[in-house]
Amino acid sequence: MTEDTTISLPAHDWPEFPPGLVWLVGAGPGEPGLMTLLGLHALRLADVIVHDALVDDRILDWRRPGCRLEYAGKRGGRPSARQRDISLRLIELSREGQRVLRLKGGDPFVFGRGGEEAQTLVQAGVPIRVTPGISAGIGGLAWAGIPVTHRDVNQAVTFLTGHDQTGLAPAAIDWAALSRSSPVIVMYMAVKHLPKITEALLAAGRPADEPLAIVSNATLPGMTVLETTLGDAAAEAARHEVAAPAIVCLGRVVLMRQAIDWMSQAQGLAPRSLDPLGRGVPQQVG
Ligand code: SAH
Repeated sequence: MTEDTTISLPAHDWPEFPPGLVWLVGAGPGEPGLMTLLGLHALRLADVIVHDALVDDRILDWRRPGCRLEYAGKRGGRPSARQRDISLRLIELSREGQRVLRLKGGDPFVFGRGGEEAQTLVQAGVPIRVTPGISAGIGGLAWAGIPVTHRDVNQAVTFLTGHDQTGLAPAAIDWAALSRSSPVIVMYMAVKHLPKITEALLAAGRPADEPLAIVSNATLPGMTVLETTLGDAAAEAARHEVAAPAIVCLGRVVLMRQAIDWMSQAQGLAPRSLDPLGRGVPQQVG
């Protein structure tokens, strides 16, 4: 742990972190700078941090000297800590009078079981506070130059998980209704079951040539973006051995990357197209 005390927060009425409080914080998609100031404030005060695999070590390094780390998640082939055990551990730490930071990747209430944890804590009479984070399905795509909404493409977006509680492709989704109603579909945890999911979307009438992107390790140094189509996605994902964690985005917003892939532009590369949708470049300036 670095004992870097150079990160000082601006003057603000920052909330207290009393002993016994469990503070549920979203760490954002990976890049440490994407955590909120409230999250950083909590991190600097916590006695113990209970964190998931998706929380970057560089964020954990911002904890105060003496703050303990407890890992609750899946890594290195070890089985996932059971959700009930994690909640019980949080209750136990609270009852010991610790300032407990429960740090989760992205936003704690987006496919992260934060809602279940919060519910169990409240039922146990444990005081909680919740600080949202930037979810990978929004911020991770922005990092890759994909706007999750664009006026010329979609007035709605759907977020779905590619796993249900049993680890199988989600059975409760009405693919036909989803395909008709949502021009952009953002999928978490979808790589494993991508063949089934893309098959379901094709069967529901989405065109095989619809643009699809897979963003792996979004916002992290090893980020990769695979641009493909719904029809080719499963084979391409296998061929490129796309790494986890990955976000899958289906819809024409993916084309906007040709213009606003700001990372490539920062490296001096010209945009591939200034008008990817062929609708005229909006609001010419200068
Ligand atoms: N609460 C998190 C999601 C947890 S579920 C959030 O709001 O972002 C875990 C899934 O999130 C992963 O399987 C992947 O689909 C997505 N994910 C999280 N971090 C990611 C990252 N850095 N790059 C790509 N996908 C990511």
